[in-house]
Amino acid sequence: AHSRTPLMAGNWKMNLDHHEATHLVQKLAWTLKDAKHSYDEVEVVVVPPFTDLRSVQTLVDGDKLDLRYGAQDVSAHESGAYTGEVSAAMLAKLGVSYVVVGHSERRENHAEDDALVGAKAKAALGRQMTPIICVGEGLDVRKAGEQVPYTLAQVDGVYADLSAEEAARTVVAYEPVWAIGTGEVATPEDAQEVCAAIRSRLAELYDQEVADAVRVLYGGSVKSSNVASIMTKDDVDGALVGGASLKAEEFAAIVRYQE
Ligand code: PEP
Repeated sequence: AHSRTPLMAGNWKMNLDHHEATHLVQKLAWTLKDAKHSYDEVEVVVVPPFTDLRSVQTLVDGDKLDLRYGAQDVSAHESGAYTGEVSAAMLAKLGVSYVVVGHSERRENHAEDDALVGAKAKAALGRQMTPIICVGEGLDVRKAGEQVPYTLAQVDGVYADLSAEEAARTVVAYEPVWAIGTGEVATPEDAQEVCAAIRSRLAELYDQEVADAVRVLYGGSVKSSNVASIMTKDDVDGALVGGASLKAEEFAAIVRYQE
């Protein structure tokens, strides 16, 4: 984990009103500024709803905040008759650095499959944004002990059409679905098992250089009280955080997990 810059990304999902969203960004930046020395090496990303991206851009640019921001989804299409979709070009114009693709909520609620998730990742990469590719098993698969093959099959599917150059610019988030929003966090050993398997698979699909470049995050009920133990694991390079990213102090404490 240690040659890669740790990444802490806060996925707000469909939460907060506009006022709360801008307030959270400002408060987070202030809280982190006070503690600058201890999170120097951590990359901090907020992932608001589309409708808040413009305001977040204004805050980050205007106040030169040491934060990056991402989108929760992107269209796989370049442009055209795709009502309701938002293109990678549109996001790139708003200064977006990261795009979450294939979140389990989109896989479940919008029937997104690995091929579509891969196409979305490719669209983001084409505009120099970093896709955060979400993978992970549900409870039935975990109970059957099939979490590694299940998750690696998702990796195979999503990366099928990505070159080594593209793959090296991705981030993977291992998010066991049973741990998302449930308060039930994977043990550090469980997280390490699958994150290490993902990295090995990237080495097989591409080469060791690609595997070493890709940051693999853990996601699923991460809080300030459990993040440090998960971050001790070699193949866990950060966290994708849902609920706990909605409060500035709590998310700042996650960023400052080394203290
Ligand atoms: C997520 O939505 O990516 C997530 C991990 O949510 P939570 O932290 O709330 O479990």
